[in-house]
Amino acid sequence: MVPVVRPAEVVANHHSRKARSRLLLIAPPNSYRTVAYLESARQQGVDVLVASEGKHSLVGDIAAGLHVDLSAPAALDILLEAARDRPFSGVVATDDTTVELGSRIAQALALPHNEPQAARNSRYKDLSRQALAAAGVPVPEFRVVNLRGDVAGQCAGIGYPCVVKPLSLSASRGVIRADNPDQLLSACARVEAIVASEVTSDAWPRSHVLVEGFVSGPEVALEGLLQQGELDVLAIFDKPDPLLGPYFEETYYVTPSRHSADLQQQIVAAVKAACAGLGLREGPVHAEVRLAESGCVIIEVASRTIGGECARLLRFGTGYSLEALVIAHAVGQPLTIKPAAGAAGVLMIPIQEAGILRRIEGITAARAVPFIEDILISIRDGYELVPLPEGSSYLGFMFASAATPEQVETALRTAYDHLKVVVGPLLKIEDRRPHQA
Ligand code: ADP
Repeated sequence: MVPVVRPAEVVANHHSRKARSRLLLIAPPNSYRTVAYLESARQQGVDVLVASEGKHSLVGDIAAGLHVDLSAPAALDILLEAARDRPFSGVVATDDTTVELGSRIAQALALPHNEPQAARNSRYKDLSRQALAAAGVPVPEFRVVNLRGDVAGQCAGIGYPCVVKPLSLSASRGVIRADNPDQLLSACARVEAIVASEVTSDAWPRSHVLVEGFVSGPEVALEGLLQQGELDVLAIFDKPDPLLGPYFEETYYVTPSRHSADLQQQIVAAVKAACAGLGLREGPVHAEVRLAESGCVIIEVASRTIGGECARLLRFGTGYSLEALVIAHAVGQPLTIKPAAGAAGVLMIPIQEAGILRRIEGITAARAVPFIEDILISIRDGYELVPLPEGSSYLGFMFASAATPEQVETALRTAYDHLKVVVGPLLKIEDRRPHQA
């Protein structure tokens, strides 16, 4: 049974309701960006219906909307029913877990959309690799390995180093480098425990992983917006810290890229080819690309915006946010994109030690570093810290902007040097009470 409450809407101005666009925003309860989307929509005069899940949902607290079990098959019909009350002008799915549902709804309503299969390809790493390889797009050599089968047999003959990764997690969760067969087997066992704990209706990603060749070289991320198959590049982010493993925490992202214009063109060409290979034609894309000696290799293309709070970095033209661009595109009123001048960057503050967060010292000094714009701490004192590969969150985000990418990077590194994260031991309480029969 799917719990449903009556739809109500975020309507900023009831009087001009007829002329206003109406957006369906599909957001899982843990989505970082719901508030930013609501704020952008309000500024654009777009009404929003938020579809989210009941548990810890923002709906009800800061916005009205529909409570829907987004993974239930009935979600599609419930949301289409909501369109009968008043049509949607566009659909935005904020996270990997909702892009396929979003594409199905937009398709049914003849709104700009990716084919559901393309959205699915971008959501599952095995499907993505298969689609890209079939399209001749450079991807690492890969195998889909059944964790319930003979893992050593399935991995026989694989080259080292390699990378083990879950099929449908994000933020590098469960991504582990292995340099030899023993490390590969223990990485598979570790990832098995991670994916087994996932609550998903789909059994396949809980029992299978991708094992693929490790691609050496610097890495960049590209944010783009697809419109009728054409890719507008919004930003290329350099990742100045080498990502060598065994775990791959994201740290610094700095834009504009300092790679040569020629290399940046190759990056864009690789992402365009990847979008075409996956079948993506509309909406935001977030891509990770390794710059190998042999050329650009696609690590991932997701059909959503950049995760976490990083989207805050991007401001365009007359101050549009990434969310504003995505909404405008979705409701068929695209904005002219003009990247803002200057440089910007973020440090996703990594969790380096497991335990209980006691406190973070030095935040005031870090904030005072020139070009630091903001520091957000996402985890409260007293909460448990879980590092990668099991963990899925950052300690927080540090933002900087300046005239040049060098200044941004220096500011972020200097500010980070001021931080001291004090972590206490995690004491588990064992339940010794006799079990009742
Ligand atoms: P997620 O979607 O969880 O972020 P990715 O597939 O993007 O997973 O991998 C996370 C990070 O791990 C990448 O940004 C990259 O640094 C590293 N990585 C993943 N696969 C490879 C690979 N085949 N070779 C080298 N590095 C990789």
